[in-house]
Amino acid sequence: MILAVTFLYFTAGPILSDKVGEITTAIPEALPAVNPVPAAKDKSEAKTMETSARNRSSEYLILVNKTHSLNKNYEPKDLTTADPVVKGASQYQKLRKPVAKAFKKLSDAAAKKGMTIKVTSGYRPYSYQKYLFNKYVDKDGRYRAEQYSAEPGHSEHQSGLCADVSSPSVNYNLVQAYGTTAEGKWLASNAHKYGFIIRFPKGKEKITGYEYEPWHIRYVGKAAAKEIRKQKLTLEEYLEEVD
Ligand SMILES: [Zn+2]
Repeated sequence: MILAVTFLYFTAGPILSDKVGEITTAIPEALPAVNPVPAAKDKSEAKTMETSARNRSSEYLILVNKTHSLNKNYEPKDLTTADPVVKGASQYQKLRKPVAKAFKKLSDAAAKKGMTIKVTSGYRPYSYQKYLFNKYVDKDGRYRAEQYSAEPGHSEHQSGLCADVSSPSVNYNLVQAYGTTAEGKWLASNAHKYGFIIRFPKGKEKITGYEYEPWHIRYVGKAAAKEIRKQKLTLEEYLEEVD
């Protein structure tokens, strides 16, 4: 485990550096602190780290959570309507282009197994998240609302990298019981093949800050998704944001 931690620590440098180059002007608030890069202990370790760093350097590994926010004006430039979607479930059903493409593959693969998985909502602008969060605070109080809804700027939905998905078996609702349906189980076991992770897993509530959401999938790319699933990590742990 110590090796794994060192490993993650080292690789955080190049990843974040890449992000700085790409998104500084658009979303400066989203950038976590850049860790200093420790010297590698020997050549073989250095080689492993380099390979890993390269694989992990991705704009799709951006972290948006209760401590990392997006600028209120941030909107991805490559949004496209997701397919398939639950028509009328939300006015916001767009995803970033590569994410929409990956979701289509996921949905097609599920269909081959006789299952229907559709997007209910995707990208949400800051203004809409603000409206939603305030509505939930009015309804349930701030403490309760924070367990399931994000403050504006802190919602991953603003990144265009995640989607809420559902199936006819739960009437396309977003409910925890979705995790026990055939579709929900298939999603948890196969989403990584298409570059997605279940972003708020059961048992990791203290790390993610959110209740279990079997319907909320986040695109991180295939390599990261595979590793996150294999090691049973959250994105926070993968990006070494927690101990
Ligand atoms: Zn969601």
